[in-house]
Amino acid sequence: MKFTSKSPSQTQKIAAAFSKRLRPGSVIGLVGDLGAGKTTFVQGMAKGLGIDPEYYVNSPTFTLVNEYRGRGTPLIHVDLYRIEKPMEGETLGLEEYLASDAIVAVEWVERMPELEKRMTESVEIRVAGDNRREIEIRQC
Ligand code: ADP
Ligand code: MG
Repeated sequence: MKFTSKSPSQTQKIAAAFSKRLRPGSVIGLVGDLGAGKTTFVQGMAKGLGIDPEYYVNSPTFTLVNEYRGRGTPLIHVDLYRIEKPMEGETLGLEEYLASDAIVAVEWVERMPELEKRMTESVEIRVAGDNRREIEIRQC
């Protein structure tokens, strides 16, 4: 599916609608340059899942992994931008999240091929102008 977004809030609305179709256990890989809108998209997913922003939990141990924990399905937000080399998922405790019924959204998923293989959906965001983004969502 392809969408055009003309603002960050429109990207969040697209993400919110997308999130409602996801099942627990989904692994969403977000692909796009720095500043494309991957984090903005994940914030929209949290809204769509009914998670209040105050439930954003910065993980004390793993700075690459943060959790949105509200009352429903938890949303685990992984950002691999700062990993230096491909790491084992174990190092981040990802296996535990993948085995749970959380929804896992991963920025820079291509930096961890073993996680990339487990993607259930990919979201590719391309910058098409100052505020314009082309968003393509695929099932994997
Ligand atoms: P990433 O996580 O991909 O690095 P962010 O979501 O952190 O990107 O930042 C996206 C930036 O682009 C923000 O500054 C946001 O305001 C801006 N932006 C402009 N237009 C859009 C749009 N249509 N969708 C998402 N972000 C947009
Ligand atoms: Mg980001």
